[in-house]
Amino acid sequence: MKIGAPKEVLGGEARVAMTPDSALQLQKLGYECFIETGAGLAAGFSDERYKTAGVTVLDSANALWGEVDIIAKVRPPVDAEVKLLTKGKTLISFFYPAQNTELLEAAKATGSNVIAMDMVPRISRAQKMDALSSMANIAGYRAVIEAGNNFGRFFTGQVTAAGKVPPAKVLIVGAGVAGLAAIGTATSLGAITYAFDVRPEVAEQIESMGAEFVYLDFEEKAQDGAATGGYAAPSSPEFREKQLEKFRELAPEMDIVITTALIPGRDAPKLWLKDMVEAMKPGSVVVDLAAERGGNCDLTVPDQKVVSDNGVTIVGYTDFPSRMASQSSTLYSTNIRHMMADLTPGKDGQVVHNMEDDVIRGATVAFEGEITFPPPPPKVK
Ligand code: NAD
Repeated sequence: MKIGAPKEVLGGEARVAMTPDSALQLQKLGYECFIETGAGLAAGFSDERYKTAGVTVLDSANALWGEVDIIAKVRPPVDAEVKLLTKGKTLISFFYPAQNTELLEAAKATGSNVIAMDMVPRISRAQKMDALSSMANIAGYRAVIEAGNNFGRFFTGQVTAAGKVPPAKVLIVGAGVAGLAAIGTATSLGAITYAFDVRPEVAEQIESMGAEFVYLDFEEKAQDGAATGGYAAPSSPEFREKQLEKFRELAPEMDIVITTALIPGRDAPKLWLKDMVEAMKPGSVVVDLAAERGGNCDLTVPDQKVVSDNGVTIVGYTDFPSRMASQSSTLYSTNIRHMMADLTPGKDGQVVHNMEDDVIRGATVAFEGEITFPPPPPKVK
């Protein structure tokens, strides 16, 4: 069968779902590989590199979508792309089916199969396909780099002939995949790093990454953010008050605040409020990784960098992985390649769409003219 990646159509998206390296691996699974001309350019992969890796370069999106059986993409398809899907084709991309119900209906109506990379179950066996995690890891790293780029001082403390420089103090709010990556990056740059999460079980992970866990003066049993599947649930009003009180106490001390707090299916909780920004020192930086879901910071403007009246920079970019397109394309295309390996048990270039397999079933949101979302809960942990 034939697999190909088109150029991403959303403005500013620099990632690509197939790299020359992933194409070589896909060929080992028996697939013939195709790419739309220029699709990898913004991520640093020229047409020539694809050709050297045995990939056929096609000169338009229409030619690509028409030629291949499996389309690998990063972003959910736009309406014009869904129109290019036909019965029997398989689309693999981020899809967010809960938010994109009309798009899912439209894809179903084409009779094609849709595998949503954001729906890969977060079980051990599927970690190699967990694109949410691979992109969150990059976002967490890049958030620190972006903070450093907007911060006028060193992260690490220094004693120099020209004077003594104190280390920067960094607070990470939310210690999921992105938060832990941010902790690791900030710590490795020499900052004194603090982190908070509603799930107390992450305290050990936070401390093992070199940060200090911010404890609340609140009964442990009430710190009940943990819900099924390791995700957070909304906090009680009392818990939230304690959390905000703690943040108010920390705000004047912190040079950099990176917020990553999310609760599945809800808008991002507001945790870094206007008065906390006002209490920060001029030159401090807030990077809000939750900007796409409304932001954790009151003053965040999605997709923009703004400066508050007291000189605090608030970064609300929503495209952190795309800002490291070479790295993120490499990891994302590897996630896709692993998904294809599971879909190709015979390594013969033939997809076997086994709906009895928890991972394939979980990620498949449309199959042979039916919507297959939401999936039943996985049987395997
Ligand atoms: P996420 O992006 O949904 O949320 C980010 C973090 O924000 C979470 O740690 C959450 O607890 C925290 N948060 C929510 N409300 C908060 C608040 N009010 N204050 C402070 N923090 C708040 O999280 P994620 O990165 O997708 O990870 C979610 C879970 O999934 C974690 O337990 C993670 O370990 C787990 N996970 C498992 C696998 C696997 O394969 N087994 C893979 C990836 C993630």
